[in-house]
Amino acid sequence: MSLSQGRAYLAIPGPSVIPDVVLQAMHRASPNIYEGELHDLTHSLIPDLKAVARTDENVAIYIGNGHAAWEAALVNALSPGDSVLVLATGRFCIGWGEMAARLGVDVQTINFGEASPIDLPQVAAALTADDGHRIKAILAVHVDTSTSVKNDIPGLRKALDAAQHPALLMVDCIASLGCDRFEMDGWGVDVMVSGCQKGLMTPAGMSFVWYNAKADAVRGACNTAYWDWQPRTDPEMYFQYFDGTAPTHHLYGLRTALDLIKAEGLDHVFDRHETLAKAIWAAFEAWSTTGDIHLNIADRGHRSHAVTSVGMASPDGDRLRQWCEKTCGLTLGIGLGRSPSDAYFRVGHMGHVNAHMIMGALGAIQSGLIALDIPHGSGGLDAAAVVIAAG
Ligand SMILES: *Cc1c(COP(=O)(O)O)cnc(C)c1O
Repeated sequence: MSLSQGRAYLAIPGPSVIPDVVLQAMHRASPNIYEGELHDLTHSLIPDLKAVARTDENVAIYIGNGHAAWEAALVNALSPGDSVLVLATGRFCIGWGEMAARLGVDVQTINFGEASPIDLPQVAAALTADDGHRIKAILAVHVDTSTSVKNDIPGLRKALDAAQHPALLMVDCIASLGCDRFEMDGWGVDVMVSGCQKGLMTPAGMSFVWYNAKADAVRGACNTAYWDWQPRTDPEMYFQYFDGTAPTHHLYGLRTALDLIKAEGLDHVFDRHETLAKAIWAAFEAWSTTGDIHLNIADRGHRSHAVTSVGMASPDGDRLRQWCEKTCGLTLGIGLGRSPSDAYFRVGHMGHVNAHMIMGALGAIQSGLIALDIPHGSGGLDAAAVVIAAG
C-alpha cells in the first residue's frame, strides 16, 4: 500500500529541500530592477556570500547552475595551452577536467578511483616532477557527490607550498558549501566555485566564483565579456553584477537562505550536518553487518557530511529507491556515474535538514530493506537514535 501522501522528502544531493520561508520570499510581484530594494538586497548578499566561504577576497555571481561556475572559473583563471592537474575522486572532477580540455587546456589527470580520497604523496610527486612549473592550476573537488568522498583541501595547500609550486588551487565546493567545514582563506584556496541549490537551499539557477588577489593577478586573457569575473565583482552599474537582467526572485530567495544560515551560525550549521551524517553512518554500519550493503567510503574522516553513497547488490539500489519513493514519499539519489548504477544509491542530507527528517528517511530505508527482502544487519535505527540522543 502506498503511504506516501503528506509532505514528500527529496533526499538527493541537490537540489536540496527548499525552506518554506525561502519559497515565501520568492512569491512576489517582479520588483523594480532600476533602483531601490533590489539593489540594496543584492549589495547585502556580497558580504554574506564571502562569510559562508570564510573569505575576505572576491565573489562573482552567475545566472546558471554549477556547470556555469565551473566554466566561469576556467575561462578567467586559464588560457588555451595552459596545463592543469585534475585530481579525480569521482565523476565531478573528471567532468570539470573535460570542460577544461574543451577550452583548449592541457589536462593531466590523476584518478584515485571511486572509493578513495586524493592521495597527497602522489600529488606531491607530480608537483615535484613539474620542475618547469608548467602546471598552472590544480583542480580538485572538496566533496565529490558521486562517491561522497571528502578530500583534504588544506593538505593540497601544504603539498603546493612544500613543493614551492606556484599553481593555483581551484576547488569545487558545489556539494559541500554550507554543509562541510570549508575555510577559503584559512586553507589557502585561490579559486572556489559553488551553486545555490545545495547547502544554500535556493532553487537551482545561480552559482558563484570566489577568487583571491593571486588568482586575479595571474589570470588569463578572459576573452569573453559575459564570464569575466571583474565587472561582476566590482560593478560600476548595477546590471554588471549579472551582465543583464538580475535573477530577481532568486535574489530574494538567497537573501532569506543566507539569513537562516546567519541566524543559526555557520559553526552550528557544520556541527548539525556532522551529527546528522554520523547518525546515517551508524544506521548503515549496523545494516552492513550482514549482506552486501556497504558505505562507499570506508574512512569516516573522508566521508562527506552532506551526501552518503551506499553500495549494494545490483539491482537493489534501484529497487530500494523506487520502493522508498512509491511507498514512503522519500526520493533518494541515483548511483550517478557508478557501474552498475543500480548497485548504488545516495542519500542527500544537505541544507535544510533536521533530526526527524533524517530519522524518517532512515526508517523508510529500513522498511524498504524488509519489504524487498534485502539482507541486512539489525539495529540500524537504534544506532542512529543513539547518535541523535547524544547530540
Ligand atoms: C551538483 C554538483 C555539480 C554540478 O552542479 P550543477 O548545478 O548540476 O551544474 C558539480 N560538482 C559537484 C561537486 C556537485 O555536487
